[in-house]
Amino acid sequence: MIAIRGATTVENDSAQQIRDSVKELLREMMAQNNLNNDNLVCLMFTNTTDIHSYYPAKAAREAGFYSCPLFSSLEPEIDGALKLCIRVMALAESSAPAKHVYLKGAKALRKDISQTIAIALDGPAGSGKSTVSKILGQKLNILCLDTGAMYRACALKCVKEGVSVLDEDSVSVLINDIALEVKFIGGTQKTYLDGKDVSQEIRTPEISMCASKVSALGCVRQKMVAIQREIASKTSCILDGRDIGTNVLPDANFKFYLTASPEVRAKRRMEENRQKGFDEPYEKILKDIVERDNQDKNRKIAPLTIAKDAILIDSSSMTVDEVVGFIENKIQEKI
Ligand code: C5P
Repeated sequence: MIAIRGATTVENDSAQQIRDSVKELLREMMAQNNLNNDNLVCLMFTNTTDIHSYYPAKAAREAGFYSCPLFSSLEPEIDGALKLCIRVMALAESSAPAKHVYLKGAKALRKDISQTIAIALDGPAGSGKSTVSKILGQKLNILCLDTGAMYRACALKCVKEGVSVLDEDSVSVLINDIALEVKFIGGTQKTYLDGKDVSQEIRTPEISMCASKVSALGCVRQKMVAIQREIASKTSCILDGRDIGTNVLPDANFKFYLTASPEVRAKRRMEENRQKGFDEPYEKILKDIVERDNQDKNRKIAPLTIAKDAILIDSSSMTVDEVVGFIENKIQEKI
């Protein structure tokens, strides 16, 4: 006997969606494992608590699984778990190795056996990219890389070594040998410079401005982009930055450009800074944001711009949850 796992998602909690998704999932599981109804021992379904309209087991009956025992139950509510998801375990008489089947949004649950996906999330400072991509990374169970942290670490290195971020020759020497590492500890990104965790140190307003300047240099971009592509080549991931969709991953499966008015971004940044213990006046933050926007948009190499195939999201009057929900829907539509 073999145990075959399967999972799928529905776009909304409707009886028809549940029927269609269950039918499609079971058809795929049967086909990929060369099974017919007589080989099936039982089907056990679970679904997330946001599904109320129909029992997945009932949908299986309707799909023609008349004779094998069926069972449906509800999953516990787990923070950050994939939403609108139906899972199934099929026991079947077979001696062949089981082929597990993950469809639609559920592919993200088993990135080892599903296609790898790359999501590019670009946009200006304070647009909410990091917050949104962290939540999405958790929900989709994929790696989330904050590429800005890498440029920030380069800036910190320059500041520590007393090298001007405008002096390309000296920066080039420094960056050539930079001991910069990005580690993912318990799903959280940690940035290490010269063996030390600098994840907090790189978040000051001074480093923000230096990062924007140093990131305009070709030698810096070349090195950082190579590291980013290497990370993205190995696993499904969401990268947030300025040039992900246009330059780092031009073939990303999904591209989003998240923005908001400079005033809204400055207010959000002020709130964030306060929580981190930097009390900067609103006017100064707004001025810095506008200056950074100009630097990032007008630099010669890989400037901040909207990729032709990116979906533009203006989050000025949206909550974080609304932005996340919008992106999730767009991903579900295409997967
Ligand atoms: O996103 P964050 O504000 O942390 O980025 C810091 C700076 O790094 C940005 O102002 C930008 O100049 C630079 N950056 C970049 N390309 C990226 C990510 C960040 O040039 N992909």
